[in-house]
Amino acid sequence: MSFIAQCVRALRPLSRTGSNFWRRRTTRRYPRTQTKARLQPDLVYDDQGREHCLACHLCIAACPTDCLYIEAELSLDQQREKQPRMAEIDLGRCLNCGLCAASCPQDAIELVPRAGIGSPLKRNMVRNGPQ
Ligand code: SF4
Ligand code: SF4
Repeated sequence: MSFIAQCVRALRPLSRTGSNFWRRRTTRRYPRTQTKARLQPDLVYDDQGREHCLACHLCIAACPTDCLYIEAELSLDQQREKQPRMAEIDLGRCLNCGLCAASCPQDAIELVPRAGIGSPLKRNMVRNGPQ
């Protein structure tokens, strides 16, 4: 290969960089730029602040990533046997698929739009329910 051909070959990546330099940026500076809201599962509460959940664990069985955890306790309410003592969701693993809400016989889980949920710390990606 001649010297000129080698120079042209070496300069080709630089010309690509130069042409992209003036293009509009397609990535965003997260978290300074607000990202689109994602649907997240959340427990539904009534007017008195009691959750509709009966701690039957059907949503846990339906979840494909095993990111829900609901601990049951006996309920003092005559109308139901159990209630959740603790509910946790690992948002780092949640796919926002909505299978948990679809499988709940009580409509006790709903998908709520939320933005800016990311975190580099795993513990910040776990949200807690009633305790
Ligand atoms: S399926 Fe509904 S009622 Fe059963 S544990 Fe899940 S949220 Fe509670
Ligand atoms: S939205 Fe999907 S992945 Fe997330 S908790 Fe519900 S079933 Fe699991």
